[in-house]
Order: sequence, then C-alpha cells, then structure tokens
Amino acid sequence: MHSSWTSNLEAKVVILGSQGVGKTSLVVRYISKTFAPNSTSTIGASFMTKKLTVDNCKVHLQIWDTAGQERFRAMSKLYYRGAQAALLVYDITSQESFQELHSWIEELKRNMSDELVMVVVANKIDLASRREVTLEQAREYVTRVLGPDTLLYEVSAKEDDGAIDDIFLNLTRNLVDRKQYLPRDKRRPPPMNIIEADPPSKPSSCCGIF
Ligand code: GDP
Ligand code: MG
Repeated sequence: MHSSWTSNLEAKVVILGSQGVGKTSLVVRYISKTFAPNSTSTIGASFMTKKLTVDNCKVHLQIWDTAGQERFRAMSKLYYRGAQAALLVYDITSQESFQELHSWIEELKRNMSDELVMVVVANKIDLASRREVTLEQAREYVTRVLGPDTLLYEVSAKEDDGAIDDIFLNLTRNLVDRKQYLPRDKRRPPPMNIIEADPPSKPSSCCGIF
C-alpha cells in the first residue's frame, strides 16, 4: 500500500425528525447492518462513530441520535450545536412527519451557518401501499426550501438495499468537497475539526487545501 499524508476530518452529523420515523433504525442499519423491529431503545451512547474514506480523505463521522427528546418538539440546541451535517428524516406513510420537517429546517436555518449540509431522508419505502408523501412532493419542497442541489433519498431501514450507505457516503463527499473548494481566505471558523494524523510536511493528497 502506498502511503501518503492524510488528514482525518471529523464531522458531527445529527439526525432530526419526528418520533417514530425511523431515525434510530437508520443509524443502527448503517452502523451495524441490522434492523431490530419494535426496538424502543435508543442507542446507549450519545453518538456513534463511523470511519470512511472519500476521495482519499479519511473522515470520522460522529453520528448523533436523539434519546427521544423529539417527542417534546423542543430539541435542545446543544444537540445540534457544532454539527456539520443534518439528516432530516420523515416517514413516507406519514404526511404529518413530512410537514413537521419544516420546523426543524426553520430552526436549523435560524441557528446554524449556511455551511451546514442538510440531507433529506424519506424512510419506510417498504410500506409503499401506505404511502402518503410522493417523491415529487418531497422534491418540490426540498428544492424550494433548501435548493435544487439538496440530497434527497427514499430508503427503508428495514429492507435496505445499500441506499443508506449512499446517504452517508454522499453526505461525506459533500463535506469534503466544500472544504476542498472553499478558498482559504473565505474559510470561517473551521467547518470541521481537523486532526492532523502526521506532520503536514509532505504535500497532501487529501482535500487539497492543506
Ligand atoms: P425514531 O423514533 O425516529 O428513532 O424511530 P425508530 O427507529 O425507533 O422506529 C420507529 C418504528 O418504525 C419502529 O417500530 C421501527 O421498527 C419502525 N421502522 C423504522 N424504519 C422502518 C422501515 O424502513 N420500514 C418499516 N416498515 N418500519 C420501520
Ligand atoms: Mg429513536
């Protein structure tokens, strides 16, 4: 294996959405490749980490799941503070869960910088016969409110076919790209915490800017 200098980027990803849409199931599916039906518990730790390499850049994702606070509608700002990305989840069988995304998006727009990467995830597509939200409706909304380049996925935490991996991969690619293409003098307080794995003496093959 050829060795090249690589930085490790660390990014905090928070999962938001109404209770019962499948946030915990999505994280569990992504991290452990399993689905536990009727699991009521939330992951014990406040976040789980996943390491992945994108464009020769090693990234550690800190994936934060709620402990069910979304039930009370008022999520503490501490939960999403410092996040670089947010997954906004609704359930295709619940128009209400789709409508409720709006308040999360408004709150994030109010409190977070424009650099926050927001990705919308429609879960439970295995329940297509009970669908209440069409992909067209979601696409129209997401384009209008978050812009045409916003990632939008329809997935099933229950019967995942790899699409959940794609969410995190493309989300990470998005984070890396933003870092890569942001001119040095335009960079605000770092959107990601940079941990230098080795002294940056050699030219970096990762993320271009170091
Ligand atoms: P959270 O409250 O958003 O964390 O949602 P959970 O992950 O706890 O899931 C709520 C319920 O939806 C549980 O009974 C899950 O088994 C179920 N569920 C989650 N994802 C899916 C899915 O993709 N398909 C189906 N059919 N059920 C799901
Ligand atoms: Mg949960």
